[in-house]
Amino acid sequence: MEIKNYDIAIIGGGAGGLAAAVCVSKKLNKNSKNYKIAVFEKELKCGRKLLATGNGKCNLTNENMSPDYYKESSREFIKPILSKYKTDKLMLFFSSLGMIFRKDGSGRVYPYSGMSADVLEMLLMNALLYGTDLICGTNIDKIEKQGTGFLLYGNKNTYYCKKLIIATGGKAQPNLGSRGASYSFAKMLGLDVTPIYPSLTPIPCSDKDLPQVKGVRVPCTVTLTADGKNIHTEKGELQLNENNVSGICVFQLSRYVGEFFTLGTVCGVKTEKIEITSDLMPEYSQNEIEKYLLSQRRKYSALKAEELFTGLLNRKLGLFLCRRADIDTNEYMYSLTDDDISRLAALVKSCTFTPSALPSFNSAQVTSGGIDLSQINSDMSCKKYKDLYIIGEALDVDGVCGGYNLHFAFVSGIIAGNACADKFKGERK
Ligand SMILES: Cc1cc2nc3c(=O)[nH]c(=O)nc-3n(C[C@H](O)[C@H](O)[C@H](O)COP(=O)(O)OP(=O)(O)OC[C@H]3O[C@@H](n4cnc5c(N)ncnc54)[C@H](O)[C@@H]3O)c2cc1C
Repeated sequence: MEIKNYDIAIIGGGAGGLAAAVCVSKKLNKNSKNYKIAVFEKELKCGRKLLATGNGKCNLTNENMSPDYYKESSREFIKPILSKYKTDKLMLFFSSLGMIFRKDGSGRVYPYSGMSADVLEMLLMNALLYGTDLICGTNIDKIEKQGTGFLLYGNKNTYYCKKLIIATGGKAQPNLGSRGASYSFAKMLGLDVTPIYPSLTPIPCSDKDLPQVKGVRVPCTVTLTADGKNIHTEKGELQLNENNVSGICVFQLSRYVGEFFTLGTVCGVKTEKIEITSDLMPEYSQNEIEKYLLSQRRKYSALKAEELFTGLLNRKLGLFLCRRADIDTNEYMYSLTDDDISRLAALVKSCTFTPSALPSFNSAQVTSGGIDLSQINSDMSCKKYKDLYIIGEALDVDGVCGGYNLHFAFVSGIIAGNACADKFKGERK
């Protein structure tokens, strides 16, 4: 079979791969289309996941940018990258392509049109403009080092490239394209991969009474505890479902749950038990809630206990708390003891749910874990192979919700694309 030759190949036409394609082709092919550059994408169209981001609006970065928004073990690696490519610099990249932005007041940045399709289109237009071949429907399933370059085995053809950028993402929502090929490639090339688990996802919970509050949404704070120790607290809307808890605040805790069920640790420390504790009225102290409930008991003593939380919390949630406190909601309020009221107030401040299983990759937004960062230079090149670059979610970098994952995918693509082009130019002189 004939082998097709490319100067630079990028495997993966997602956020990172397309940003890399724009940069490398613009640098090398701006004046003449001398360099053969290709993006290989297994899906029939590029950027299916990018289209799904931010509910179709693409939260592409965040004004509040710092390594602290990324997984602890990746912060040293990401520090120099973010100091070179903060929010403004990424926005400058997109505005050089012609994009303007809209900010949501909390730091999240979106394209002004509010359409992820526009972000994708802008990247595709520019990659094509500078002579990149977009080869869709081509699944690369094997990479082999060959001389100074790489052989890529696809479902249709075999390709040779002098320099290679791996941008095949993680394993989250595999229906959108990325199914873990990055980790197989790493294995073929003798590179280490850290344990992977789903992140930014609803958390399955085993509490038998959870179905009673199915459909309830409550603004609150949620805290993940490991063996009783507070690990991470988030504020936001908790969504209670039949078998899981959800909402962005829960997503932010899910990485620890993934780690616990995969490795038996939380933040690297061996852990026996994890819980999610919610404070359902964070603006009020337990004492204030207790006083309020006592006054309701006085005022409505002739009514049933089922009315105790009327005006305070969602009715389903109020009944749920009463049941958890062993209170018969058909009893009259006058029969509630002071101890009943204080148990209820304590429950409002600390209502727990127990994670029961590893969340699914099918519902996760990102993969935590990936190709080990100790093998990667700050220009995204691989220490073992000078002509190989690895970017985006394939690496062991993941951030919280808010534009941080796309920021890293784009920025690592830009850095790799530029570095790859500079190396090429340097070698040709
Ligand atoms: C529903 C959803 C919403 C999200 N919203 C946001 C958000 O608003 N903001 C944010 O910052 N992050 C968001 N994320 C996360 C973000 O989309 C990813 O972190 C980011 O897309 C990773 O970019 P990437 O280029 O590394 O990988 P991907 O975007 O996954 O791209 C990888 C590409 O490689 C292709 N590919 C895989 N294997 C092969 C192969 N063997 N051969 C050829 N091609 C291959 C895939 O089909 C895919 O197109 C969201 C994720 C999901 C699932």
